[in-house]
Amino acid sequence: MLSFQSCIECHQKFDLDEIIYRCGCGGLIEVKHGKFPSPLAGEGSGVRSEESGVWRFREVVLPVQEHEIVTHPEGNTRLYEREVLSRWAGVKQLYFKHEGENPTGSFKDRGMTVAVTQAKRLGQKTLACASTGNTSASLAAYGAQAGIKTLIYLPEGKVAPSKIAQAIAYGAEMHMIQGDFDTALTLVLEASKNEGLYLVNSINPFRLEGQKTIMWELFEQLDWTPPDWIVVPGGNLGNASAFGKAIQEGYEAGWFMKKPRIAVIQAQKANPFYESFLNGFRDFQPMKPDTRASAINIGNPVNYPKAKRVIQDLNGLVAEVTDQQIKEAKIQIDHSGIGCEPSSAATLAAVKKLVEQKSIHPNESIACILTGHVLKDSIM
Ligand SMILES: *Cc1c(COP(=O)(O)O)cnc(C)c1O
Ligand SMILES: [Zn+2]
Repeated sequence: MLSFQSCIECHQKFDLDEIIYRCGCGGLIEVKHGKFPSPLAGEGSGVRSEESGVWRFREVVLPVQEHEIVTHPEGNTRLYEREVLSRWAGVKQLYFKHEGENPTGSFKDRGMTVAVTQAKRLGQKTLACASTGNTSASLAAYGAQAGIKTLIYLPEGKVAPSKIAQAIAYGAEMHMIQGDFDTALTLVLEASKNEGLYLVNSINPFRLEGQKTIMWELFEQLDWTPPDWIVVPGGNLGNASAFGKAIQEGYEAGWFMKKPRIAVIQAQKANPFYESFLNGFRDFQPMKPDTRASAINIGNPVNYPKAKRVIQDLNGLVAEVTDQQIKEAKIQIDHSGIGCEPSSAATLAAVKKLVEQKSIHPNESIACILTGHVLKDSIM
């Protein structure tokens, strides 16, 4: 097979089917692919996976056989433009790619279809994750479809009730953890080492391969002309890492001629990546997070090393917004008829702020990634 895994620090190579989340040197693992086909090569072949916005790119996501794929299908989400929102933010061209319109209501389905497919190929018996809510709902659904047991670690009192209800409905086994998401992730990482659980948090490199397709699909919807900016909320920094990888890979393959810049947005009370950006990434301090935007209430993002490189390589930036600013932006998005969950609204809040600060020019084109559905988390 042309694809393999590799350490982002020491570049040691690993077989595609080896189960590994960290290299011996401590570095994160990424998936690499050999040949990039034309982006439209697979289209029109009539197979089911072509209905999936993820699997139609499968040669450069996870090159597997059709019958091995666990797909809902997912992806192929809509791209919205609303004049009221661009006016509110003070820009001319503002798009919203609504990943909340995935099967379980968040972008997590894009990565989960790939991670669960890989787990099933490898004959895994139990799948596990720590979650601020959406990862657990997505894992529960894809695990149910694959017929594999799912185990979920949630920070007690810090997950939106509708997300818990969703994971229970799909049949997951729930474990409530005292502490925050970061504690839950540490616990599940330990358990995966000791008890042979297959871990599907975004430290799993196959998750990020699926999430790359958000970018490719967005650019395809814009006739392969990327916007000037991608704006995305940052929690565990899986999307930021995946988007940067998708932009680099697609650009090198000649799929598009311009690399957009990325703005990663954090909530002010859960902003360790922003603080690190401010000091030129010289150091990184985990923190105790405390934002009402529960999906990004993370103080020790596991993908920090990958996301840092994305910001550096793509001349990106990291910004923070307050919970009050998130709330105001959410009202705008909801009242425009689109709707999203609080963490997603951090994108629009940040666009307005970055334009006022002159970090984004009003004439630049911008795509905000709405990460979750309006019904996911209605309390703000
Ligand atoms: C998981 C999630 C995030 C955070 O994404 P990361 O890739 O962990 O940075 C943001 N918004 C929503 C709705 C999420 O479910
Ligand atoms: Zn290494």
